Amino acid sequence: MPDQPILTREADLAALEARVERDLALIDYPSRSWVPPRAVAGEPVLDVAIVGGGQGGVATAFGLLREKIGNIAVFDRAPDGLEGPWVTFARMLTLRTPKHVTGPDLGVPSLTPRSWYEAAHGAEAWDRLGKIARQDWQAYLGWFRRVLDLPVRNDTAVTDIAPAGDLLRLTLEGPDGTRSQLARKVVLATGIDGSGAWHIPAFIAQAVPADRHAHTSGRIDFDALRGRRIGVLGAGASAFDNAATALEAGAASVTLCLRRTDLPRINPYRWMENGGFLGHFAALPDLDRWRFMKRVFDLNQPPPQDTYWRCRRHAGFALRMGCPWTGARMDGEEIVIDTPDGALRFDYLIVGTGFRVDLTLRPELRHFAHDIALWRDRFAPPEAEADALLGSHPYLGDAFQFVERVPGANPALRHLHNFTFGATPSMGLSGASISGMRYGVARLVSGLSRALFLDDAQAHLDSLRGYDTPELTSLDPPPQDEREAAPNGA
Ligand SMILES: Cc1cc2nc3c(=O)[nH]c(=O)nc-3n(C[C@H](O)[C@H](O)[C@H](O)COP(=O)(O)OP(=O)(O)OC[C@H]3O[C@@H](n4cnc5c(N)ncnc54)[C@H](O)[C@@H]3O)c2cc1C
Repeated sequence: MPDQPILTREADLAALEARVERDLALIDYPSRSWVPPRAVAGEPVLDVAIVGGGQGGVATAFGLLREKIGNIAVFDRAPDGLEGPWVTFARMLTLRTPKHVTGPDLGVPSLTPRSWYEAAHGAEAWDRLGKIARQDWQAYLGWFRRVLDLPVRNDTAVTDIAPAGDLLRLTLEGPDGTRSQLARKVVLATGIDGSGAWHIPAFIAQAVPADRHAHTSGRIDFDALRGRRIGVLGAGASAFDNAATALEAGAASVTLCLRRTDLPRINPYRWMENGGFLGHFAALPDLDRWRFMKRVFDLNQPPPQDTYWRCRRHAGFALRMGCPWTGARMDGEEIVIDTPDGALRFDYLIVGTGFRVDLTLRPELRHFAHDIALWRDRFAPPEAEADALLGSHPYLGDAFQFVERVPGANPALRHLHNFTFGATPSMGLSGASISGMRYGVARLVSGLSRALFLDDAQAHLDSLRGYDTPELTSLDPPPQDEREAAPNGA
């Protein structure tokens, strides 16, 4: 139900769009590109190709256009409106991010989530709002993309990225079949799992038929779970959101098991949401970055309080802490899970074990993954502070670009920028999260802009040397009307 009559909302949205148009004109957006166009044997070259049209991809496109880098494209394999997790596999009711955090707007007030929300639902609705519903967030991102006229190509998967001299060649699979596209720079804005893949432990995947288990990021027919006994594995917010969704759909019981003997209570992501950390973490020496991130990874993230209560209000919900799953098998139609507390029996499993960070699992990175430096290649922590997970993350340069494990082995990978959650140990809160975006996008765009300029230094110098447009066009006295208009008759 809309909070105010639809006509009021339409008028408010139209008024907001007029404000956006005016704000964009005031900051001269967009204007002509300063990057010299390139072509190879007549084939056009993009300045920047962005893989992924979720919030990170579209905010980066906006940032580049603001910097007058206009020869760009965003490719997303998802259909228009279904990018990212929000209305696909996310099962929370609202975002976890507090409503006042801004992000994709990059500081333009009329483009903030609040401006859109007030226009779409009314200012009073904003005042009453706790956190933004995930469907509203997707609607906001769609609006953002539309009012900025961002060049997003949906239904287009990037299936391969290969070095092509000092360029990158992308293979695109889209509505018109397979084609290739050259680019000078590529930004991977491929999501939270973009530096690896969602993970289901092998002992579950091998023993339990595919139609009897799912990852929290997968498709689940919750209506089919009515009256069933569901086992959920994992301590993260998604495990709880899926448990709640199953209970709300009428599951007979949901037993949520976790290895930890207690739930995390503290959310370090809220601590990280400050300008000092977001802006400057990446400048810290490696040992300091490691120590910050070890603390963040050790604390992990609790499920939000409302998510926990969403489960606890159901009599059929059971939470078993200190209860890892150690084995799985079928007993007739029942799934049997072994735990230190004995066997548990279920009809369906939902696995919330997150994702692996492993660049070799990304098909589009097959020409690069083995040459990319990881933290474990570049930094040895004190023995007591070792952490294999942290060490498996890519060790990035100051603008999210990959660096070579062995210098000279694969030079083109400096053109690949990793704007996924895999960037967290190098850059602090990943740039593509809502709270990290304002700082992350600025850093990424500035690095891309700098590299594009420096790589063309000779062309810019030639351009300057050939620049001969006179500004002073006459040494005659000014025309009569200019003389009359001059202050104090001067
Ligand atoms: C359930 C859930 C809840 C979350 N809640 C929050 C929250 O409240 N606040 C927050 O800040 N973060 C949250 N996150 C983290 C969230 O994923 C990110 O903040 C946000 O989605 C990151 O944006 P993104 O653009 O990097 O990735 P996404 O939004 O995931 O977009 C990535 C896009 O890349 C596309 N893609 C991937 N590979 C290819 C390819 N090879 N070719 C073409 N397209 C490709 C995908 O189709 C996808 O649309 C949540 C994550 C999950 C899973």
